[in-house]
Amino acid sequence: METGTTRNVVILGSGPAGLTAAIYTARADLEPLVLEGEPSSTSDQPGGQLMLTTEVENFPGFPGGIMGPQLMMSMREQAERFGAEILTKKATKVDLNARPIGIWTGDPESPEPDVTTRSLIISTGARSLMLGLPNEARLLGYGVSTCATCDGFFFRDKRIAVIGGGDSALEEALFLTKFGQSVTIIHRRKELRASKIMQDRAFKNEKISFMWDSVVTDVLGEDTVTGLRVRDVTSGEERELAIDGLFVAIGHTPSTELFRGQLDTDGAGYLRTTEGSKTEIPGVFACGDVQDHVYRQAITAAGSGCMAAIDAERYLATIE
Ligand code: NAP
Repeated sequence: METGTTRNVVILGSGPAGLTAAIYTARADLEPLVLEGEPSSTSDQPGGQLMLTTEVENFPGFPGGIMGPQLMMSMREQAERFGAEILTKKATKVDLNARPIGIWTGDPESPEPDVTTRSLIISTGARSLMLGLPNEARLLGYGVSTCATCDGFFFRDKRIAVIGGGDSALEEALFLTKFGQSVTIIHRRKELRASKIMQDRAFKNEKISFMWDSVVTDVLGEDTVTGLRVRDVTSGEERELAIDGLFVAIGHTPSTELFRGQLDTDGAGYLRTTEGSKTEIPGVFACGDVQDHVYRQAITAAGSGCMAAIDAERYLATIE
């Protein structure tokens, strides 16, 4: 990385939003720098959530499907082909009100930022909350999933379990009834958190059954999921439930820690954007799942990355 020079655009994050923004800004000769993040845990790593899925069948242009990590490698290669610089580093601090904007990648207490930039595109994504069980992480992509829209198709005529009691869990469960033989919703309480309309739909659906007051204590299976160990929290009794697929739908959390106190978030903690990708700070743009808790698809993230790149390009033209 060249030091001492101010970049035109820095992109934080390397999922479909960040890499699409990199392709567009690189083709606009803005020589973007992408801080792709660092492998830190199974739910937070360079390439974003697609690195955690197996086959992606709904990204247009791939009639035979493509593996999630392969899709991300291709986007990365495409960005680099046009001159994007991609570093395996994550930002530890940002000063969005400084001009140029300051970004630290090492000690956040250091007086000087490691990188300065005229514009910033935030595409740090969101992480699915997980139960935190060792076998859940091991079998992610092999029967454990966090996205019914992405993976439901692979569970045709299979026995599926969904964890959670909110709108996401019910939405995933209802969607999965199109494919699965049965869908069991496992919830840690006796009452659902989900909206009444979603509850009504789930209760009416004949394929859906509920396991109340229950928590999953282990995911079973060698190469793919074969079952769950479930504990009844009222009696303490444990039993095994034979299933083929587990969908964890206990919520998402946007990766916005870095911007706390500097950018506005909505009630759920997602960055607020207006007029495409603009945040309230001129020159700072946001795209992908960090600002979208509604659609959360690779293709919508990529689309919003394109919007952020165009917005950044236009902003840079105004300050020249
Ligand atoms: P949520 O409302 O926070 O619900 C999370 C659910 O997971 C809760 O039922 C919670 O149980 C359970 N849970 C959390 N941690 C758990 C753990 N460690 N083990 C077991 N269960 C756990 O999250 P969400 O469903 O993703 O929804 C987020 C927001 O998006 C909500 O405002 C929701 O209305 C909205 N949303 C709307 C729609 C729609 O309208 N179609 C669809 C999806 C999401 P407790 O209930 O016991 O806390």
